[in-house]
Amino acid sequence: MLKKELEIFTFGDLLEHYPNRHIDKTKLNKIREINPQTDFIQVAGTLLSYETVGAGHGKRLVAQLRDSTGILELAWFQGINWVVKGLHVGSDYLVFGKTGFFNGKPQIVHPEIEPYLHAYAEGKNFLEPVYPTTEKLKARGFNGRQLGKLTYALISLIQPKDLPENIPEEVVKKLKLMNRFEAYRNIHFPASVELSAECIRRLKFEELFIAQIRLNLVRLQRQKVSKGVVFEKVGEYFNTLYSKYLPFELTGAQKRVLKEIRNDTGRGHQMNRLLQGDVGSGKTIVALLSMLLAADNGYQSCLMAPTEILAQQHYIGLSELLKEMPVEIALLTGSTKAKERRRVLQGLLDDTIHFVVGTHAVIEDTVQFRNLGLVIVDEQHRFGVAQRAKLWEKAIIPPHVLVMTATPIPRTLAMTAYGDLDYSVMDELPPGRQPITTVHRYETARANVMDFVRTEIDKGRQIYFIYPLIEESEKLSYEDLMQGYEQVKSFFPEPKFRISMVHGRQPSEQKETNMQRFVSGDTQIMVSTTVIEVGVNVPNASVMVIESAEKFGLSQLHQLRGRVGRGKEKSFCILLTGVKASKEARERIKIMCATNDGFKIAEKDLEIRGPGDIEGTRQSGALNFKMASIVNDRDLLELARAEAERIVEEDIDLTMAKNLMLKNFLHGQKTKNGWGKIS
Ligand code: ADP
Ligand code: MG
Repeated sequence: MLKKELEIFTFGDLLEHYPNRHIDKTKLNKIREINPQTDFIQVAGTLLSYETVGAGHGKRLVAQLRDSTGILELAWFQGINWVVKGLHVGSDYLVFGKTGFFNGKPQIVHPEIEPYLHAYAEGKNFLEPVYPTTEKLKARGFNGRQLGKLTYALISLIQPKDLPENIPEEVVKKLKLMNRFEAYRNIHFPASVELSAECIRRLKFEELFIAQIRLNLVRLQRQKVSKGVVFEKVGEYFNTLYSKYLPFELTGAQKRVLKEIRNDTGRGHQMNRLLQGDVGSGKTIVALLSMLLAADNGYQSCLMAPTEILAQQHYIGLSELLKEMPVEIALLTGSTKAKERRRVLQGLLDDTIHFVVGTHAVIEDTVQFRNLGLVIVDEQHRFGVAQRAKLWEKAIIPPHVLVMTATPIPRTLAMTAYGDLDYSVMDELPPGRQPITTVHRYETARANVMDFVRTEIDKGRQIYFIYPLIEESEKLSYEDLMQGYEQVKSFFPEPKFRISMVHGRQPSEQKETNMQRFVSGDTQIMVSTTVIEVGVNVPNASVMVIESAEKFGLSQLHQLRGRVGRGKEKSFCILLTGVKASKEARERIKIMCATNDGFKIAEKDLEIRGPGDIEGTRQSGALNFKMASIVNDRDLLELARAEAERIVEEDIDLTMAKNLMLKNFLHGQKTKNGWGKIS
C-alpha cells in the first residue's frame, strides 16, 4: 500500500516523506480568544455535557466543553457511537480543531479530542506533523497519524551514522546549516516553530545543493572534458556578411553573445548554450553569424524551428541576407517534395549544402550530414528532449548546440531546468523600438476597436487578428476562427481591404501563400490562430487584436504581442475579452498591460502557474523537489548554485578530502528519472 500510493519503498523514503505542515499544539488557547478570524486552536477544558440530537442525516453528537474563560461546542456527524465511548462528563480533555461559529457560538466540528494529561499543562512538547496521504490509504484506515507513528518509531532507531553529512563542512559552517542527522530527526516532530524552520532551511538547501552539484558536474565536465569540434578562426564568410551585408549595427548584447559563442566553440569542447532573448531582441542574426563561423571552419550547420511557417520564414530571411554570398542554404520540412528532398539529402551528404533550415524533419534518421558542426534550435520550448537528443547522434564528435528560447525563462527556472547548459541573456532590444502600448477592451467595445484598426490601415499599417486554439477541440477552434473571419470581413469588406487567413487545418502550400501575401504587404489583415505565435516577422504590422484573450497564457500572450512593434511605427496590442473572466485571467491581462518586459512576465508566469506547468520543463526531473520551491526559495537556490559551482570548479572529480562525503552520497543515491542529460 505505502509503495503504490506514496512511493515509499524504504526507510529513507519514509524519512523523506515530509509533513506538509505542522500543527502547533505546544500552546493552549483560551475559549474566549476565539473569534471569526480564528483558524485552528487547541484548548483544554472540562466536559460539561453531551447529547445526541436529530435523526437520520441530521443526527449529530453535541458536547459542551468549558475552560476558565468560556464554553465551546463540539459536534460530530459521523462515528458518533465510537466518540461517545471516550466521553465522560466531568473529565478533562484536550481538544484541537478548526473553529467556526454556529448560532453565534464558537464551535468545532469533528475536533481531535483526547484525555487531558497534566503533563500537557503547557501543551505537547513537539509540533504535530500533518502528512500528505491519499484517499485510498485513508479509506483503509491508514491516515497521517499512523504514518506519524511509523516515522516516530523509525526516528528513535536511527543513529547519526545512518545519515552522514553530505554537504561539505565549510559550506555547513558558512551558511550556518543544521547538520543532516539533526535535520532529519527534527523535521517530523520539532520542538518549536523555530526549530522546524531551521530543519526546513537545511533540507531545502540540501536538495537544491545536490541538484546544483549534479547539474554543474554535467556542465563543467562537458566544458572541460568532452570533445567538441574546434572553430578556430573567423574567416571570409563571417567577415563578409558582417562588414558588407549586415543591414544594421549589432546591439551590445548581440556582440557579447557572439563573443561567448566564439569562445565556447574554439576550445575543443562541446558548446551547449541556452540563449535567452526577449522577443525581437534579434536572435536570428546571432544564429546566422554563428553558422557562418561554422562554415569558416569547414562545418555544416542546421537550424531547427518548431513550425513549418517559421522554418520557411527563416529560410527566406537568411537566403535574402546570404544572396550575394557563395553559401548554399536549403529548406527541409515535412512538406518538402520528394525530388527536392533527394537533392537536399545528397547535398548534405556531399557537403555542397552548408546550411539546412527545417522543422524536426531534419532529425529524421534518413538525414545524414557529412560534417555537422553546429545545431541551432530556435524557439526551443516546442522541442522535446528526446528530439534534441536525436541530433547528437548524428556525428561522432557531437556538434555544438545553441538553444534559443522564444520566451525568457525566469532565472531560477533556468538554473534548475537548464542548469546543465551554459546560458546567455540578450537583455537589450535593437535601438529605435517604441514600446508597444497594450490595452484591455471588452467585446462590447468592438466597434471602437474596429474604428481604430481602420485608421491604422489607412495609414498603411497591417493588422493581426488572433483567435485562440481551443485545446479540447480542433473543430471548435476552427469554427471560432471562421466566425471571426466573417466578422472581420464584415467590418473590412473587399476590395478595399484584403485579408489573409492562416490556420492549422490548411494544407501547407495554402498557408504559405496566405502568409506570403501578408509578409509582402499584399493583404493588410491577417486572421490567424496561434500558429502565427513564434518568430514571424512583419515589421509593418502595427496592431494586434487578440480575441478571447482570457484564454491565453501569459507567455503565449507575450510571444504573440512580439509580432508587432518590430518596425519604426508605434504599435498596439488590444486584448479583447468577454465581461466574465476568471481572476487569474484578469491578472494576466493586467500584467500584459503593465509591462513589455519578457523577463518580468516570465517571473509572474512562474508565480501564477508554478514550475510544473511551464512549457518545456514538464519532462524535466530537475524540478522534482520535495521541499524546496523555485518560486519561494530563490535566495537559497542562488546560494546553492554559487556553492555548487565553486566546489565543482575547484574539484571536478570531487576527490578532495573535504568533498568525499558528498561524492559518496552522490554515488549512493539511486539515479532518479530525468537526471540524464537534459539536452
Ligand atoms: P527574435 O529574437 O525575436 O528572434 P529577430 O531575430 O526576429 O528577433 O529580430 C527581430 C527584428 O529585429 C528583425 O526585423 C531583425 O532584422 C531586427 N534586428 C535584429 N538585430 C537588430 C539590430 N542590431 N539593429 C536593428 N534591428 C535589428
Ligand atoms: Mg526568432
